Amino acid sequence: MAGIHNPGYQPQFILTMVGAGMTANKHKDAGAQVTLKKKLEHRRFLGIFTGGTRFHLEGLGDKISVMSQVDLLYRLQQIDDAIRDSKKRLAQVISLQKESSDLEAARRSTEVAAEDLKNWRGKQNVLNLELSALNEKAKQEEIRLYSGMVKNPKELEEIQYELESLGRRGSALEDELIEAMIMVEDREREAIEAEQELEAIETTWVKDQESLNIERGELITTINDLIKQRKELLTIVSGEAMAAYHNAIRRAGNPAVVLLKGSRCSGCQVTIPANLVKSTEDGNLVVCDNCSRVLCLM
Ligand SMILES: [Zn+2]
Repeated sequence: MAGIHNPGYQPQFILTMVGAGMTANKHKDAGAQVTLKKKLEHRRFLGIFTGGTRFHLEGLGDKISVMSQVDLLYRLQQIDDAIRDSKKRLAQVISLQKESSDLEAARRSTEVAAEDLKNWRGKQNVLNLELSALNEKAKQEEIRLYSGMVKNPKELEEIQYELESLGRRGSALEDELIEAMIMVEDREREAIEAEQELEAIETTWVKDQESLNIERGELITTINDLIKQRKELLTIVSGEAMAAYHNAIRRAGNPAVVLLKGSRCSGCQVTIPANLVKSTEDGNLVVCDNCSRVLCLM
């Protein structure tokens, strides 16, 4: 396998890999200029592009294929598509890295459950204090009643009344306290469940972040590489080819470079005149009359 690596050469064509039916009429060693016979029986793009001023020539004998300006535009289109796709995915990744709505909802539920539990515990404490004070008062009244110190029957009767009243209030307070205790238990269970759910969602989220961080880094590297490749490619794309590419995008949108299938433009399905089909086959830059897209052969 012959190989030429010549960084100083500014080729009009970029040589790629082995193709069929293309003959170089002058083919010297590394560093030599290579003049290519322009007539192609088959033009085949096999896609090795090594940079703006370098090329690879790998051939069987002197059979090689070339990258014409149309091939370069096709490559440019692949790069532009890849840049666009990578940027789109990068935007998705960045938006996934914001807190998800599930996580926000779980966090809110946990806060509500904790607040609810705090309120019911407070209520339970107040009721406990109230009941203790009431029991203490009843105890003092009982001591007075049975101490023998109070002799006045009317006063004794009043103490009896007071004790009965305290007893009624006490049992009402106990009912309220039992209700509060049940509520506290329920709220405790709910708070634990909300915490567990939040933890599960957070764990998944953190795990996703790791892979998203890796993907984000890879996408940034890919985009930078593609931009570099694009820059290198642009140094060998002619002004005419570039103008045709931009014109096709402006007038027809993506893709700017389309296949010529037989004599039909695969961009708009219109039949191309025979002389333009021939010109496309000869490796010239031809645009579809109807949709303005650049025509290429694979
Ligand atoms: Zn067309």
